[in-house]
Amino acid sequence: MEKPIYLSPPVYEDRIIIPNMQSGDVYENINKVVLDFETCVQTFLETKKQVVALNSGTSAIHLALILAGVQKGDLVLCQSMTFVACANPILYQGATPVFVDSEKNTWNMSPKFLKEAYFECCKKGKIPKAIIVTSLYGLSSNMEAILAFAKAKNIKVIEDSAEALGSTYCNRKLSTIGDYGILSFNLNKIVTTGGGGALVVNTLKEKEKAIFLATQAKEKLNYYQHTTLGYNYRMSHLNAALGIIQFNRLKDNLDKKALNFNFYNSLFTNIKGVSLHKEPNNDYSSNYWLNTVLINSSKAGGINKEDLYNAFAKANIESRPVWKPMHLQPIFEKADFYGNGVSSKLFQNGLCLPSGSNLTNDDRERIQKVIFELFKSS
Ligand SMILES: *Cc1c(COP(=O)(O)O)cnc(C)c1O
Repeated sequence: MEKPIYLSPPVYEDRIIIPNMQSGDVYENINKVVLDFETCVQTFLETKKQVVALNSGTSAIHLALILAGVQKGDLVLCQSMTFVACANPILYQGATPVFVDSEKNTWNMSPKFLKEAYFECCKKGKIPKAIIVTSLYGLSSNMEAILAFAKAKNIKVIEDSAEALGSTYCNRKLSTIGDYGILSFNLNKIVTTGGGGALVVNTLKEKEKAIFLATQAKEKLNYYQHTTLGYNYRMSHLNAALGIIQFNRLKDNLDKKALNFNFYNSLFTNIKGVSLHKEPNNDYSSNYWLNTVLINSSKAGGINKEDLYNAFAKANIESRPVWKPMHLQPIFEKADFYGNGVSSKLFQNGLCLPSGSNLTNDDRERIQKVIFELFKSS
């Protein structure tokens, strides 16, 4: 068996040297590593907004919901086609998700069904409290339409940019466009801290509140006193130290992801029935975190996404179906959904392809061989 090719594995330095730390260091010095990492993220995002380093993207979404004022019994409008990490925090708050379908070109939240969902909620007597949009596989949603509607209705937008570090919409870095932005640095994201995330907020006051909540809501006294519910969500200094090192390779990782995209783009131009997911126009620029294809089997000589998945698996190459929409998940069985079948169709026909920033020419040749052999008759 040939060595495995993975979807999006972490890539590390040979040796990791942790800066700014000495044994016996007091807490303030150690904590400075976390602050340095936040500066590093903020600099990359080219923003005056504040960055809060946390232990996961999921906890960043949870804190964003709290800062947005989402409470028990509230409604939150959430993109259905996403990772469950995006929707679970709504339940942590005791709130109720209302799922919104995708639009065809970005695969992200449909502005049309967002409006429909909003007005239906209002008709039933409850004004939704927040909107969570995801930038799937690195591509932004139609932020202009979504923000315009949210502004008109005075409703907060949380940008789940977990997959979209380095992507832009109208030249603005994703995670800095909405009221709150979230990033993830888990193992398969474009850079990793071993596990971690960040919350991007507008003001220093919100940053202070987020840190307060992320460190068990300990009040500023010389003993332990707590009046609000807190969490253990702060990023550790070791993860932050790794993050600082990883950000040095972010630009290089982005270049390599773009190379992978170009490879797939030319590979699929001559294959009927297979379309590579890409930017609809120049407003969008993706980080190409994962390259994904839709297979229209009636145009592809009867070949479907399972066939490609199986052909890859036989060659020890990892691929993966796209996210299964939340409104089709057993856990969200009872949730409301507004749409017309776009996201379920994407789930039926979509497959994520190996897109690691460490993909070699040999790897690409093996991938190409599998694809050419499978589709040669079509
Ligand atoms: C990775 C991811 C998250 C959160 O990730 P963590 O593993 O909690 O850091 C959230 N939303 C989406 C869409 C993701 O892909």
